[in-house]
Amino acid sequence: MKEVNIAGSGIAGMSAAIYLSSKGIPVTIQERKSRPGQSRHGDYEGLENWIFDDNISSFFYKIGFDYSKIKSHPVYKFKVHVLNEEPLLVKNKEPFFYLVKRGEKNNDFDNQLYQQCLDVGVDFRFNTIASNKCDIIATGTRKASAYVCGSSFKTSEKNQVHLLLGHKFSPKGYAYLIICNGFGTIATAFKKVKNTNINYLYNCKEYFRKLNIDISNEKDFGSVGSFAFSSSKIRLPMHIGEAGGFQDYLFGFGMKMSMISGLAAGMYINRERSEAKMLLKKINKKRRISFLNRILYERLNDENMYYFAKKFSISNNPLSILEQAYVWDYKALVRWLKIKNRYEVRPT
Ligand SMILES: Cc1cc2nc3c(=O)[nH]c(=O)nc-3n(C[C@H](O)[C@H](O)[C@H](O)COP(=O)(O)OP(=O)(O)OC[C@H]3O[C@@H](n4cnc5c(N)ncnc54)[C@H](O)[C@@H]3O)c2cc1C
Repeated sequence: MKEVNIAGSGIAGMSAAIYLSSKGIPVTIQERKSRPGQSRHGDYEGLENWIFDDNISSFFYKIGFDYSKIKSHPVYKFKVHVLNEEPLLVKNKEPFFYLVKRGEKNNDFDNQLYQQCLDVGVDFRFNTIASNKCDIIATGTRKASAYVCGSSFKTSEKNQVHLLLGHKFSPKGYAYLIICNGFGTIATAFKKVKNTNINYLYNCKEYFRKLNIDISNEKDFGSVGSFAFSSSKIRLPMHIGEAGGFQDYLFGFGMKMSMISGLAAGMYINRERSEAKMLLKKINKKRRISFLNRILYERLNDENMYYFAKKFSISNNPLSILEQAYVWDYKALVRWLKIKNRYEVRPT
């Protein structure tokens, strides 16, 4: 089969590449930076454990990656901070997510995916702006409607995860503090707010400093995301990952969505067309329901958020509440049909 060209060596591009390469199809990735992971910030991100059915190893295996070679840390508990109430502890027997460090260094997630792609012969062309003849477009977010401001830092604190909610910290979004093996990330993801110059990241840092959390050698970063729903079409060139709107609209968990969209593109090009279509149908249901959940989430005020956080903290299986929130059923379909035309739906 002729060579496949992919634009972008993010998670989505590398997922499509490893799948195609494992099927014996030659692949070249064109990347504008000089290495995968270079546009990331050494921050911790979580591979969520509630949207897809497979366990984490099978999920990676399906795409072509060996999860045993990925450095990650399971998270079984975290604290939720809302209003000025006592923080709520939420814990579960199964991990909520697996933390990975994003970046270009040896133990970083992006670099580990890159090494696995090299092992199966994927060809990378760095410092190259992708040509407009690529078969797969995986160049990341196109339109910003949400912002992420964060800080990576060093710390002597033990491993811990906190979620910080409320309009003072992250309007229509959420903020978090993750500490893992001496490194920490504080970040706030929020929607564009008109006529304001509030420094949400500063507010978050102040909040955690008041809890005596040691934060030093901070390196701030900024990024954009999109919570605008975009429909996806199955045709070449295929837009995958954030370039195709493949993400979880509720909380912005986009890594596994990017990987699975890469798999769908790989299958499509490998002439497994009906399997690719079925997979996309499944992902699109998850995307739609996450968009519905986002619309509901944006309507919550701080008191409502506290109410939900409390529900999670008293549940003995909070992960199952999250899993249920992503089940596509008759009610979800009706809600989707009602809102479908009222929100931005851009064809890719
Ligand atoms: C601060 C932050 C925290 C996040 N936290 C989480 C989390 O906890 N869990 C989670 O699941 N998701 C999280 N996400 C979302 C997740 O990181 C993204 O959904 C995912 O990385 C998107 O992957 P991608 O491959 O689609 O795009 P990207 O990672 O953006 O990759 C695109 C690649 O294309 C390259 N490129 C762009 N334009 C061109 C061009 N013209 N020519 C050649 N190359 C080009 C870029 O350099 C880049 O390497 C977070 C995002 C941010 C910003």
